[in-house]
Amino acid sequence: MPDTDASLVADPSVLFEHPEYHAHEQIVFCHDRATGLKAIIGIHDTTLGPALGGTRMWNYASDAEALRDVLRLSRGMTYKAAISGLGLGGGKAVIIGDSRKEKSPEMMEAFGRYVDGLSGRYITAEDVGIDPQDMIAVGRQTRHVTGIPEEMGGSGDPSPVTAYGVYQGIQAAAAFHWGNASLKDKRILVQGVGHVGETLVRYLTEADAEVLVSDIHADRLELMKDTYGARIVEVDRVYETPMDIYSPCALGATLNDASISSLRCSVIAGAANNQLAEEEKHGHMLMKKGITYAPDFLVNAGGLINVYSEIASYDRKEIMSRTEEIRRTTYEVLERSAREGVPAQNIAKKIAEERIHSMRSSKAGSN
Ligand code: NAD
Repeated sequence: MPDTDASLVADPSVLFEHPEYHAHEQIVFCHDRATGLKAIIGIHDTTLGPALGGTRMWNYASDAEALRDVLRLSRGMTYKAAISGLGLGGGKAVIIGDSRKEKSPEMMEAFGRYVDGLSGRYITAEDVGIDPQDMIAVGRQTRHVTGIPEEMGGSGDPSPVTAYGVYQGIQAAAAFHWGNASLKDKRILVQGVGHVGETLVRYLTEADAEVLVSDIHADRLELMKDTYGARIVEVDRVYETPMDIYSPCALGATLNDASISSLRCSVIAGAANNQLAEEEKHGHMLMKKGITYAPDFLVNAGGLINVYSEIASYDRKEIMSRTEEIRRTTYEVLERSAREGVPAQNIAKKIAEERIHSMRSSKAGSN
């Protein structure tokens, strides 16, 4: 889902000077007249391997908003793959439009032809608004696709593994903040109970946490209440609600000036990409407030680990053990953050960048 702060959307006429452009390798603008496809593919960095990242379909308010989203998301994928030790670079695609009304198999096939034109530099998968069925249509035009249904030999929906990874990250953050990973009786608010949020609610309920949920769709809330006994919080009451842990699993950029000033929690760990509206500023604000923040691209890497199994040919057991590693890495990042007095997001980025730089140097050395 895109970040919602319209004031941060830059002039669409600039690209190389765009505030979210960080030496991206390639940006591809795709338009197919016959199907109405309008998409942007962002390839941020391929030092560690082909750029793998999902395709998001969203009804963006403007092309500029779509561009900003793909620039931020593709960069985040570079960090996510690097810190997770995967042989992948960072990329992402966005399709502009309402997925419930405008998406068609023909449109997804047209998108697949653009992906194919990149000859494997970019490999796609699902993101918000896109499901495994869409990946089947994409797969009719290119082999550079993951997230194919399990019955067709793919790794299926990555969301449950993402939720498992977030659960690991939450426990690590709890262990760091309170000296104990137990979530028993901790009040945890899950914002957004879609594919990832729902599975996370199940894990938290099983861990005897007091689970609060918020969503813009009433049917999702009722389901969470009936199935897990979760307490519902109105969408505009989230940031003023007293809680131990805030878990953003819907939108990006929910951590901004206004929300951080209001938030009454000790720990933040969730699935949403790009939670910090402005990384530097808001990372420091959280630290100053004494809130333990588990970096988003670190704790939500389970889905990427899952789709990477289709390329690296590892099994479910390895998917789960690699996802469990998120817990140890998160704890280490939080410890180093406290030791060095630097926000955890910066530490996680530094670790990811170090891995990329050392690969770059060894490639340069072998030339
Ligand atoms: P989803 O579309 O299935 O679920 C998102 C939910 O958030 C929906 O139920 C939606 O109604 C709700 N929502 C939207 N706006 C909201 C608001 N203002 N307040 C509360 N709820 C709101 O998406 P998902 O696959 O569950 O992904 C959730 C987030 O995690 C996204 O940001 C996604 O990019 C990120 N993520 C997902 C995966 C994955 O494997 N699916 C992997 C990594 C990161």
